[in-house]
Amino acid sequence: MPTETFEFQVEARQLLQMMIHSIYSNKDVFLRELVSNASDALDKLRLESLRDDTLGADVSDLHIDLEADPGARTLTIRDNGIGMSHDEVVKLIGTIANSGTAQFLKDLKEARGNGDAEGLIGQFGVGFYSSFMVADEVTLLTRRAGETEGTRWTSSGEGTYTVETVDDAPQGTAVTLKLKPVDDEDKLYDYTSRWKLREIVKRYSDFITWPIRMAAEPVTGEDGNTEIPAPETVNSMKALWARSRDEVTEDEYHELYKHISHDWTDPLETIRMQAEGAFEYQALLFIPARAPQDLYTRGHKRGVQLYVKRVFIMDDCEALLPEYLRFVKGVVDAQDLSLNVSREILQQDRQIQLMHRRLTKKVLSSIKDMMAAHPERYATFWQEFGRVVKEGLLGDADNQDAILAAASFASTHDQEQQTTLKQYVERMKEGQEHIFYMTGESRAGIENSPHMEAFRDRGIEVLLLTDPVDEVWVEAVPGFDGKELRSIARGEADLDTEEQKEEVKAEREKQRQEFSGLLTWMSAQLSEQVKEVRLSARLTVSPACIVSDSDDATPALQNLYRAMGQEMPHTKRILELNPGHPLVSGLRAAQAGREDDPALAETAELLYGTALLAEGSELPDPARFTKLLTDRLERTL
Ligand code: ADP
Repeated sequence: MPTETFEFQVEARQLLQMMIHSIYSNKDVFLRELVSNASDALDKLRLESLRDDTLGADVSDLHIDLEADPGARTLTIRDNGIGMSHDEVVKLIGTIANSGTAQFLKDLKEARGNGDAEGLIGQFGVGFYSSFMVADEVTLLTRRAGETEGTRWTSSGEGTYTVETVDDAPQGTAVTLKLKPVDDEDKLYDYTSRWKLREIVKRYSDFITWPIRMAAEPVTGEDGNTEIPAPETVNSMKALWARSRDEVTEDEYHELYKHISHDWTDPLETIRMQAEGAFEYQALLFIPARAPQDLYTRGHKRGVQLYVKRVFIMDDCEALLPEYLRFVKGVVDAQDLSLNVSREILQQDRQIQLMHRRLTKKVLSSIKDMMAAHPERYATFWQEFGRVVKEGLLGDADNQDAILAAASFASTHDQEQQTTLKQYVERMKEGQEHIFYMTGESRAGIENSPHMEAFRDRGIEVLLLTDPVDEVWVEAVPGFDGKELRSIARGEADLDTEEQKEEVKAEREKQRQEFSGLLTWMSAQLSEQVKEVRLSARLTVSPACIVSDSDDATPALQNLYRAMGQEMPHTKRILELNPGHPLVSGLRAAQAGREDDPALAETAELLYGTALLAEGSELPDPARFTKLLTDRLERTL
């Protein structure tokens, strides 16, 4: 069979360069990555042979071997797992499937200057390629279970790799590293040292459920004969979730997390759960510290693995947690499920549904606890995953309160610190009945919008909601703690207390009469654009603003639905005028008796246009607006 030479995909090549000129200081982790791959391969073989009895693979002694040769300076990690076909080798090892890679590499390039590259590698994890941190050349010999021919892949990580077909490969995969010379100064990094290998396995891979073996050193007996004792199993193979809490260290949990998630960074939070009784299970869940690049793309893998009685059954088991907790990683081990349970069956299983409910509640309460006990950690969490969690306010009515209790929002109360709804309610003014919010694209945009004026004047706190999902959930959530959520850009602003009401009532009535002519005239002028022109109680500085009727969807929400392909009728909004503004009172005085003056009609149009601009909306006819405005400016010169 001829040897074929392939080029690495561009992204793969860049990544390899970084591994070779290693920017990651903890090189030991290469072994964790290779052992992790081997362990996955054993899981896969066991499962596949359970489903397909024609596979003909021997699954009686699945294990991982570590073989070090100090003389040749090689280290081999061998498994008798599922192996890879020729095409799989080219596809899986020669390219990087992860869609976030390009972005990752870009970030990495930018970070190199400021020493943050290590952190980035950590978030991403690079699996098999990490072997090039310690090796000059890597050879992978593999044969897929059920196939007769094997494949040998070799590369020095410099641009190309070779692939050839071999007849006599054992089933499974052996990765052989031609190790770089040991640094004489630092014998600690000799990866042919049995002591070193044992230490790394204990530290990173102890919980792997398959035996990780190392050939024992030959012993010379008293009779002068050399014997080779049975290989030593280096890891304890104890499932962490089945051990009692005080037996397991934080670090051990974190290593399990890294194995499951392919993330090199420690998780923010570890959640343990144990259910006894009729349906027994253990769960060990993790909240990552960083959102993966593909969190919002379809097909994002969820991270909860299902085990049945310590045996791995499936990755990303979607039946265990709702979509909006898709960032949670971990293991759930159930005692009473069948080993060949399918995804379809799981979705319908009553016990699984019960488990789903309990796990969901547990994760949400853990987030809430984190908020109280570790505010900084919580802030990181919410920054990374808050948007996803808020999706749950839409679909999961049962947990709406729990989600709201674990949520935090930007608010006018503090420039930096977010607030919880509970804190907001505690700060509510005497007589304030509602929780006020405004949605928009940015904090600054909302803060400067005219709608805020009266609220700012009276010191009434407003939540500033800038995530697209905020537009939607505020419609679905009736309120919090008996207080309704109210948009300040919608309906009539009713900020007066009972006493003030009496006082201002007469004043308002007077204004209404004074301005009724103007309002009628303007309503007619702008009848194409707005459904009503009325006086405003929310403006103190600006002449005008636009609000939605209480029952109408806001423009942003309408746009969102349109973007999702739904038909949305165009609803007209309401123009509110500030009777105290000189432009408005001036217009009132000028308009009386000059109803047909085109210059005044233009002023009305300009006023409407500026109100649109002030809230960040688009003008219906920007060219016309600009022309009217420049003509006006010209006349002032
Ligand atoms: P990751 O493990 O993060 O997916 P890797 O680069 O480590 O990325 O591996 C890429 C893919 O190659 C794995 O997902 C797996 O399908 C395959 N692979 C790697 N090592 C093995 C192995 N020992 N046995 C079988 N398949 C393997």
